[in-house]
Amino acid sequence: MLSKKSITDIPAKDLAGKKVFVRVDFNVPLQDGEITDDSRIKAALPTIQYLMEKGAKIILASHLGRPKGKGDPASSLTPIAKRLSTLLSIPVQQAPDCIGSDVEKMVSTLQNGQILVLENVRFYKEETDNDPEFSKKLANLADIFVQDAFGSAHRAHASTAGIAAYIPAYAGLLVQKEIAFLDNAIKSPVRPLVAIIGGAKISSKIGVLKNLLGLVDTLIIGGGMTFTFLKSQGVDVGLSLVETEKLDEARFFLEKAKTSSTKILFPVDEVVVKEFKNDAAFQIVDIRQIPADMEGVDIGPKSISAIQNVVKDAGTIIWNGPLGVFEMPTFAKGTNSIAQALADSKAITVIGGGDSTAAINQAGLADRMTHISTGGGASLEFLEGKELPGISVLLDK
Ligand code: ADP
Ligand code: MG
Repeated sequence: MLSKKSITDIPAKDLAGKKVFVRVDFNVPLQDGEITDDSRIKAALPTIQYLMEKGAKIILASHLGRPKGKGDPASSLTPIAKRLSTLLSIPVQQAPDCIGSDVEKMVSTLQNGQILVLENVRFYKEETDNDPEFSKKLANLADIFVQDAFGSAHRAHASTAGIAAYIPAYAGLLVQKEIAFLDNAIKSPVRPLVAIIGGAKISSKIGVLKNLLGLVDTLIIGGGMTFTFLKSQGVDVGLSLVETEKLDEARFFLEKAKTSSTKILFPVDEVVVKEFKNDAAFQIVDIRQIPADMEGVDIGPKSISAIQNVVKDAGTIIWNGPLGVFEMPTFAKGTNSIAQALADSKAITVIGGGDSTAAINQAGLADRMTHISTGGGASLEFLEGKELPGISVLLDK
């Protein structure tokens, strides 16, 4: 993956005056038309600024929301273009569409270093269909394609993959950084390599767990999926979250893990409640002794110290998935303590997953992590060992 060509491999003279189509991930959260978190726009700035400095004509494309293949003012990129202009302190042009003669005209009048933001590519269903004709129309706007939408790189869509069949395709700086951190963490980590995988469900994480088996030195499993694993071993877990249809898969995984070089660690104690609410009365019990009328919502203090001990000596830590119901402050203790332990550790810390990132932001610890991925789904698929279509299409060195 690391051997892909990036925009830094293009000689400066070959960028000046060139029309560069950059696929970015501007899919930011909006509330009543206002951007509530612009970190994805900020994450795209290094590539945009790099291309500006080199005198390229910059065409930015993204999806936003789920407009279902037709125009929808609520999913227009107008607020994003405005925010981008503010962040860069320069005017930014906005096209009324992402293909067609009006857009072509706007592109043809772009000066070196200027920016044109195209309208939402998902206003066309051809985008998610990865339609070749649509891909070609996007490609016709530019000389070069730059992939910088790491958050969309696990999708084979027209603007993330299809377009690369028609013009030379390079990785942007964000994509390069994301791949470098994730790749190093898995393929050439400073050891011991520790992965902490939590979250609600086995179904969304089993692929990652399987792929990490044999790769990581210690695999810490926590969060809601703990209980499906326990249940698969015949342990009663009370009313805790169990995916009944995943019991066989859980059992099979644990069987395989026995012969693997990876040490697996489960929580040993758990915070349990009768009612699923923040101010519910709670108890801390041995994880194998959850009362029949209670459910696990956070890891207990013994589990926290056990994880802290592993984290303390780690060389690299991959974290994906909260260890408890962190949205309720009373049950955020486990997740927050682990976030703090990662922040305090000297290890390389690589974080993936929307909720894990939210937990770290909530704890104010974001700038103390080595790398927080901008792509929840994409980073998961990467950790599963899958090829990301938006990366595979880029030029090999
Ligand atoms: P990420 O987005 O970081 O990949 P997930 O989406 O897999 O994480 O999981 C996050 C969710 O897991 C959170 O909503 C959290 O409340 C839930 N969760 C964690 N522990 C438990 C638990 N013990 N019981 C129920 N849900 C849990
Ligand atoms: Mg999530």
